[in-house]
Amino acid sequence: MTTPMRPYNFSAGPAVMPDEVLSQAAAEMLDWHGSGMGVMEMSHRGKEFGAIHEQALADLRELLAVPAHFKLLFMQGGGLAENAIVPLNLSKGQTADFVVTGSWSQKSLAEAAKYCTAHEAAHTRGNGHTSLADPASWQLSDKPAYVHICSNETINGVEYHALPDLKALGCEAPLVLDFSSHVASRTVDWSRVGLAFGGAQKNLGPAGLTLVVVREDLLDRALPICPSAFNYRTVADNDSMYNTPPTYSIYMAGLVFQWLKRQGGIAAVEARNIAKAELLYHAIDSSGLYQNRVARDCRSRMNVPFYLRDESLNDAFLSGARECGLLQLKGHKSVGGMRASIYNAMPLAGVQALVAYMRDFEARRG
Ligand SMILES: *Cc1c(COP(=O)(O)O)cnc(C)c1O
Repeated sequence: MTTPMRPYNFSAGPAVMPDEVLSQAAAEMLDWHGSGMGVMEMSHRGKEFGAIHEQALADLRELLAVPAHFKLLFMQGGGLAENAIVPLNLSKGQTADFVVTGSWSQKSLAEAAKYCTAHEAAHTRGNGHTSLADPASWQLSDKPAYVHICSNETINGVEYHALPDLKALGCEAPLVLDFSSHVASRTVDWSRVGLAFGGAQKNLGPAGLTLVVVREDLLDRALPICPSAFNYRTVADNDSMYNTPPTYSIYMAGLVFQWLKRQGGIAAVEARNIAKAELLYHAIDSSGLYQNRVARDCRSRMNVPFYLRDESLNDAFLSGARECGLLQLKGHKSVGGMRASIYNAMPLAGVQALVAYMRDFEARRG
């Protein structure tokens, strides 16, 4: 194993960035491509930033294989703002359906209820959000304006490995995905999607940028009270420049997209993500000390929550991990335990180092 440049960072977000990307940004900090300006100092309407923006959009469309009848929007406010922006744009004040499989979809439902009738079509509270609800069991409303799911529950570690097919359920409504924490980690079947949104700070780049991928036919449904800066039609017609976009975050995300292309694209990255996740889940399942409670068919490849069977060892586990250069493994306060987020930028070597530490800790303390 080669010695890493830095400790391995398992933060759930904002999260690890590729070393190469940070180094390139550092090298370009004072002078981008001989322009005499750093990217933060450029007008968003100038030709230099225009080129950065265009390239980022083209690379993202290619990487995620987004069909031409979807718009790519760069917005602000993060995933939580989209919990309001989506119903403001899509609900028409009518009924929207929510499938609650963890903390994030629960939040989405609560926020949407301010703008429309938010109907809970299914939930997994009964087992503490350790599984998904079979789409065949969803109690969809008659003609929902849209159906919302969180395709990867960052806190609970539950992921849809296939997107639900609403048409097969007899529902014509668009499917809305909160894919904040697994965007660009796997391929997306866009034929099943109406809109997908995600904050950038898990897998795409720095906080401050929100990606929205929206089918063109959904652009003109906004409620009159929808703020102009959050109206998808307005944002789309102005190429995400209705107001000043988060220029530096877009630039950084663009560097991540180029890095993803150098990694071989999303399919290659997905294969690596599968290998990383299998290694970690196998280490957990084969141990006597560690435990993951999520059903095997919906375990997240990005966020791996786990518990020590003897919780009195939690602090020793975390401080030992820090000493070994394994950072930010503490679980979310709402669920406790540990969580290893292993986004695209976490190399296999980082997961190997974590597994080696876990085995060693169990041998000494378990
Ligand atoms: C992180 C996260 C959010 C929240 O994003 P903010 O940028 O903090 O608003 C929403 N949904 C999911 C699934 C997330 O992982």
